[in-house]
Amino acid sequence: MSKILTIGEILVEIVATNRGNGFREAVPLIGPFPSGAPAIFIDQVGKLGQECAIISRVGDDDFGWVNINRLTEDGVDVSGIEVLPMGTTGSAFVRYREDGGRNFVFNIRNSACGEIALSDKTLALIDTCTHMHVMGTALYAPSVVTSILTAVERIKAAGGTVSFDPNLRPEILDSPGMREALQTVLSKTDLFMPSGEELFLFAEAKTEKEAVAELLAKGIKAIVVKRGDKGASYFDRDTQVDLDSYKVEEIDPTGAGDCFGATFVTFWLKGMHPAEVLRYANASGARAVTKAGPMEGASTRAELDALIQAQGNA
Ligand code: ADP
Repeated sequence: MSKILTIGEILVEIVATNRGNGFREAVPLIGPFPSGAPAIFIDQVGKLGQECAIISRVGDDDFGWVNINRLTEDGVDVSGIEVLPMGTTGSAFVRYREDGGRNFVFNIRNSACGEIALSDKTLALIDTCTHMHVMGTALYAPSVVTSILTAVERIKAAGGTVSFDPNLRPEILDSPGMREALQTVLSKTDLFMPSGEELFLFAEAKTEKEAVAELLAKGIKAIVVKRGDKGASYFDRDTQVDLDSYKVEEIDPTGAGDCFGATFVTFWLKGMHPAEVLRYANASGARAVTKAGPMEGASTRAELDALIQAQGNA
């Protein structure tokens, strides 16, 4: 039986209810919504009934507990979340621009999750897991990078697997050591899940076909390219699958890639055919955009089956 682990930021998201540029004026806000790409990912895994855990840190405050309570409710092992009595839980303020893009104000590095470090307890937790999922966003601070690379090494050494979603944000790409860490993680990756153009940050080739071939030749077993409302594609040495997206009303795209990735990894580890796995992931990404709030659109298997049945194979 597999157990999926991720390590990284847990935070709350507070969202401006009107569109505009950033926060240099007073704006109406809603939240806090439980968030953090690794947290959204692992919540979706838990909601599918798959055994899973997260290693992180939060402050002993309402923002921390809103996350711990949600993750617990959805079946995630939260024993690796340290609650720091003197710490503060991370936060991100988000405002959508008129062009559909987003502006963020992050407080992550100076929050509890900026200091994630391993202990005997979390090392023991890592040794109960068979798959490690790495989120590029989590590589924002040296101690978190060390924790992630340690988990990747231990899980691989024990015969487990690694998936990697670069999930890059320009705001954090230039964190100290981040570019080197991304390359180190890539070299250990079995399943690589970039969004569109991110593929080219990791390959020399200029076309998608060549970039995919280049990365597969380096030892990556499978690549999934996410394409927002254009669907997604799957590649391995023998197979290519392309799916259009399911037709849904997009309310909030935050969390789509995380729910998609979580669903892909969960079903991939069950050994299902890649076309079937991609279909479930595609449905999960589509359902995620239909709800306001990053973690609010996570789905159960029954909800995914219902969308697939209603719309067919997309
Ligand atoms: P990321 O958030 O990592 O950039 P995407 O925006 O590409 O990821 O979304 C991940 C997946 O979610 C897509 O490949 C697609 O399957 C699904 N998805 C995203 N946006 C939509 C949408 N507007 N309608 C339907 N499906 C969507």
